[in-house]
Amino acid sequence: STQVVDAVARALQQADGTRRLEVRANADTPEDAARARRFGAQGVGLCRTEHMFLGERRKLVEQMILADDGAHRQRALDALLPLQRQDFVGILEAMDGLPVTIRLLDPPLHEFLPDRTELAVRIATAEAHGDRPDPHDTELIDAVNRMHEENPMLGLRGVRLGLVVPGLVAMQVRAIAEAVVQRKRAGGTPEAEIMVPLVGAVEELRIEREEVERVLAEVSAESGVPVTCPVGTMIELPRAALKAGRIAEQAEFFSFGTNDLTQTTWGFSRDDVEAAFFSAYLDKGVFAASPFETIDREGVGRLVGIAVAEGRAARPDLTIGVCGEHGGDPESVHFFHTAGLDYVSCSPFRVPVARLEAGRAALSETGVSDSR
Ligand code: PEP
Ligand code: MG
Repeated sequence: STQVVDAVARALQQADGTRRLEVRANADTPEDAARARRFGAQGVGLCRTEHMFLGERRKLVEQMILADDGAHRQRALDALLPLQRQDFVGILEAMDGLPVTIRLLDPPLHEFLPDRTELAVRIATAEAHGDRPDPHDTELIDAVNRMHEENPMLGLRGVRLGLVVPGLVAMQVRAIAEAVVQRKRAGGTPEAEIMVPLVGAVEELRIEREEVERVLAEVSAESGVPVTCPVGTMIELPRAALKAGRIAEQAEFFSFGTNDLTQTTWGFSRDDVEAAFFSAYLDKGVFAASPFETIDREGVGRLVGIAVAEGRAARPDLTIGVCGEHGGDPESVHFFHTAGLDYVSCSPFRVPVARLEAGRAALSETGVSDSR
């Protein structure tokens, strides 16, 4: 088995010498980042910040979103700030010297809010027993009802959340900037990048970017340590791909979110791929592979092509990557190589596969056949 290990190591070394695509990893914790690095990742292409707001921080998040007075909301944000800073310090340390793309909060709102039905049942049960319902419950249900959405995946998430909840972006950016300062003071080389999710219009990005830059300047002035971070956006809505030329005016990098881009281009729910029609479509040959696993070259792939061409035309030095599930799918890696991306980002365990496939893609371009 050491022979196998040696053969794999040789193949990876050869691929690394050949490939043009960089390979980064999607990692949300210092442990994942460290693991990704051992597998050869050249940075974190996507650090999702949503799980950092669950668990025992949930109450603070509820407070932040539901508060109808500024002071109440700010207290929740102030309590979240040091926790968030620690999250980023660990990841930047594990990836020291390599880029870490941190994405501002993205998930649909309902994932953070208490369940409406549960609340209603609690209130009704209390009333049925002739008791006064918990005033916290009645207050919560009013707020939850106010914010209820029929289609949360198409609702208040991504950049929209940042534009609507005052102080949220400032808190996250401050946490990132302070983590950078802390790492620099410890002698490290933190390379944080800030990524805005679900952008569909350049104005959304322009407004959010201004806020990001304001906070970076503030922390730089306070600490005396200069903090600059590239600011970029996910391209994960068809409109973003079609408006990529304009959006690139406000973005130093693009990262394709092919999970959402597939969902919104096909109109298929990414959370319901187990739906009966999906396997029927595979059986009937409507598609050969799930478009959520292998990039749909003719549809979603065309949007990728448009965004690359228009983005680079507007800004020749634009860095472009992909961080959807497709970033670790062999066939899709070949597509992204041909489309001219700079990097793919995938789960840590997929990093070696992506390195090999990126090498094979570069090799096949030169006409040299490989043995597989
Ligand atoms: C995507 O949409 O492809 C993506 C990477 O973001 P998320 O899966 O977190 O929506
Ligand atoms: Mg997405």
